[in-house]
Amino acid sequence: MNINEYQKLAMTTLNPELSKKDVLINGVMGLCGESGEVIDLVKKHLAQGHELDKEKMIKELGDVAWYLAETAYALDVDLETVMVRNIEKLKARYPQGFDQNRSINRHE
Ligand SMILES: [Mg+2]
Repeated sequence: MNINEYQKLAMTTLNPELSKKDVLINGVMGLCGESGEVIDLVKKHLAQGHELDKEKMIKELGDVAWYLAETAYALDVDLETVMVRNIEKLKARYPQGFDQNRSINRHE
């Protein structure tokens, strides 16, 4: 499965009664909520003695992916475009790979 196929499959589970505006709002709220679930697993591991539950992490990262797909869908953008643009931005920022000096002195 490629990333755009994922997005298409994921969006078959989107509530079809939501307006485009509601899809956008649901997408960004879901991204924050699911990212919080990922953070909570790491917090419990670091501060509360829990084993890092890799299976739960995979599930929550999948939830993050779903909401990322939804947010891009709300913008009429496919996920491959989002990822290609991100790599283009990173290549411009770090043409030779990560560079601490370029990170500290970023021009954006
Ligand atoms: Mg979740």
